[in-house]
Amino acid sequence: MEIIHVSAECYPVAKAGGLGDVVGALPKYQNQSGHIAKVVMPMYRTKFLLANEWDVVHKGYTNLGNWWFTYTIIKERNNVLDFDLYLVDINGLLDRDKIYGYDDDADRFTAFQISVVDWISAWSHRPDVIHVHDYHAGLIPFIIKYCYRYQHLQNIPTVLTIHNAQYQGWMGWDKSHFLPAWDPWKRGMLDWKGSINPLASGIKCAWKVTTVSWSYLDELRVSANGLESLFEYEKGKCVGILNGIDSVVWDPATDKYIENHFDTESADKGKLKNKKLLCETFGLDITKPLIVFIGRLVGEKGADLLPQAIRDSFYYIGRTMNFLVLGSGFPEVESELESMKFLNQNDYNVYIGYNEGLSHLMYAGADFILMPSRVEPCGLNQMYAMRYGTVPMVRNTGGLRDTVIDYGDPDGYGIRFNYAAVGDISQAIWRAVEMYKDEEKLKEIRQHMMRLDFSWETSVKQYIDLYKSL
Ligand code: ADP
Repeated sequence: MEIIHVSAECYPVAKAGGLGDVVGALPKYQNQSGHIAKVVMPMYRTKFLLANEWDVVHKGYTNLGNWWFTYTIIKERNNVLDFDLYLVDINGLLDRDKIYGYDDDADRFTAFQISVVDWISAWSHRPDVIHVHDYHAGLIPFIIKYCYRYQHLQNIPTVLTIHNAQYQGWMGWDKSHFLPAWDPWKRGMLDWKGSINPLASGIKCAWKVTTVSWSYLDELRVSANGLESLFEYEKGKCVGILNGIDSVVWDPATDKYIENHFDTESADKGKLKNKKLLCETFGLDITKPLIVFIGRLVGEKGADLLPQAIRDSFYYIGRTMNFLVLGSGFPEVESELESMKFLNQNDYNVYIGYNEGLSHLMYAGADFILMPSRVEPCGLNQMYAMRYGTVPMVRNTGGLRDTVIDYGDPDGYGIRFNYAAVGDISQAIWRAVEMYKDEEKLKEIRQHMMRLDFSWETSVKQYIDLYKSL
């Protein structure tokens, strides 16, 4: 099968979160299983772009409403990612430093999607599936079904994967002329509660919809940032397929970001060396358990609860643990975490920003990773952590519920808690401190976690079966 993935992110080209990781890995493993998977994404001004060689494979001319523009499709020449990677260049619109966060994001991603469809319509053959990811590519199923210019593509099956339903790409109806002339009877296929909603449109128009875990799919019927009833109505075409992790990139025995490699046999020693490096760098006490947080400092991740939970733990449990936080997001959370550095007694530090290398070192050197997420569609951190022998402390939600079993339960290994609340987090921290005291138990849990299989093979098979069912 020939599968074309359309996404705003793809690791290592451009990544802001889990979407990038998934789109950087899934096609590689689909290729390994004998299919032809390709990725097309916007051409941002990234290091990857400058560091690699490119061929121009197509030049096209299309329009975003009244604005006519030339777009260029370039292809990475040396297959460095193990799949064909295509970038869409639209001068001035996509070639920027950041992926998101511009006032004209609606224009940028709509023009991107129109260009992708326009390019595919110029192919001499048809792909077997167009697999779109999140709202940035959510209008494509509508465009190929209902825009007159592209209706000859309407028999190509489309799959939408929802990595995060919080972000939906709403735009006003004044932007409806952005799309190439479309069947006005199908207005409802774009609309959700009075605006154009690309994610809702994708859910309505794609042949199948997947979410990145089963529990997340269940939760979306109750809480989906306004789309609950749509998920309830469309449940027949929705399935949950858990993400895998790229076990080549995320392997403590070969990880290019860490110096002290280890495997299951050498985990205790290897982790200690990495912990030492972290403790030296961040002024922490190596004798205490190291609890880390890695991620976007936003409400979804429960990051706003961290400062109080850390202070409460120090106060009620005692200064018997270290905390190290890596992330960026809400300015008020960033500054509160920064300001807490002044209370540091060799047991707390924070790095505000995005740092891929540091994140790998933290997975490798930490004893515990805290994820008090309010919403977690799948969550990759807990899977990376487990592969690196780091015990996940997670809220009972979404993919966290599907991947972590509490160590109090049969066959369990992690720490789970029910509410995204300071009290529940502190209780989990107390349990972590207790677990750390029992060295033998911790070693046993590490071994267990590192042997768990979160590889892509199972998920790839489920995606292929899904495509075949179309
Ligand atoms: P989401 O996509 O919702 O942010 P995921 O758990 O699916 O969450 O994926 C998060 C990914 O982003 C992981 O690979 C994590 O290591 C990485 N990440 C998040 N924040 C940072 C950061 N500040 N520095 C480095 N990596 C980060």
